[in-house]
Amino acid sequence: MDFHPLSSWFNTTVQPFLIAGPCGAESFEQLDETVRRLKTAVSPHLIRAGVWKPRTRPDSFEGRGEEALKWLKEIRERYQLPVTVEVANPKHVELALRYGVDVLWIGARTTVNPFSVQEIANALAGVSVPVMVKNPIHADLQLWIGAIERLHRAGIHQLAAIHRGFHRYGYSTYRNDPMWQLPIELRTHLPTLPIVCDPSHIAGKRNLIAEIAQKSLDLGVDGLMIESHCDPDHALSDATQQLTPEALATLLSQLVIRSNAGANDSADTLVELRQAIDEIDMDILRALSKRQEVIEKIAEHKARKQMTIFQLERWQEILRTRGQWADQLGISRTHVERLCQFLHEESIRLQNLSMNDQVDLQEGRRNNA
Ligand code: PEP
Ligand code: MN
Repeated sequence: MDFHPLSSWFNTTVQPFLIAGPCGAESFEQLDETVRRLKTAVSPHLIRAGVWKPRTRPDSFEGRGEEALKWLKEIRERYQLPVTVEVANPKHVELALRYGVDVLWIGARTTVNPFSVQEIANALAGVSVPVMVKNPIHADLQLWIGAIERLHRAGIHQLAAIHRGFHRYGYSTYRNDPMWQLPIELRTHLPTLPIVCDPSHIAGKRNLIAEIAQKSLDLGVDGLMIESHCDPDHALSDATQQLTPEALATLLSQLVIRSNAGANDSADTLVELRQAIDEIDMDILRALSKRQEVIEKIAEHKARKQMTIFQLERWQEILRTRGQWADQLGISRTHVERLCQFLHEESIRLQNLSMNDQVDLQEGRRNNA
């Protein structure tokens, strides 16, 4: 699958690509004031506004529907800014296109359902409109890729993924767990697919948005989607995470925008540093190979003595001593504990293999006798 870069959709070189606007379109006045102030404060590339809001519980604000599309059409012309709305079914697609919406997005609650995504893809066959696909609510990368594939097969090649985090049961700092390894894996599978981070829905609280936005930029996302409202405290949905346009401008001015320009330039010190890392990694792998030889001897010994592979006291001792060594060496204890977990799992796997081999060999010998 090949995709068109975000910058080509709007003919811009300004980075990061910025999508801003309220969680929901509540009234013409709210939209007008928010977009007027956004245009002055941050000049976003694209205005977002939910017109149909998928709400967890009934009796919450569910969006103004078609009426809000009329407001958006007027706002779009008044401020000369393209707009995007969430669509969850073919009827939404038809209405959004009828009112001239420039970009569609599929929400997390829709991406989880392949039937809904396929219906939207069918409704889009032969239509030339960019579509952004939010990650599904739970951390299923295949489902996210599957939704993108369905749209791509319908002929939509202006596609982007939106990373908005993953639901996790119970209390945590963030509203949705970012699980950064998922957008990283998505990038590995589909290197040309633009990825936008939505730190608003990951954070759930406005004071946490900046750190998430920075982290996403450090990982190389192509754009940010941030909720902004003219009067966040009185917003009808997602009040705690929306920022005023001016607060959004302050936040953006504090972000460090990095690029990977020069990363492969042979004169760059990064090349030297990477060589040093390559050598260290080789040393680590050599050490792992030696470790494996010792593990095989341990397995033979345990097999001879009829001992169990897992020995709780030894495992506790490993965790305790490696934790102390980590402190002495000034490296993260959590990192070292995770590493020990990996090493231990592999050790158990190897011992299992080795012991079962010996059983087979012995049985083989017995059978031959
Ligand atoms: C939204 O963008 O307002 C929204 C409903 O997001 P999500 O689909 O990520 O929950
Ligand atoms: Mn929202």
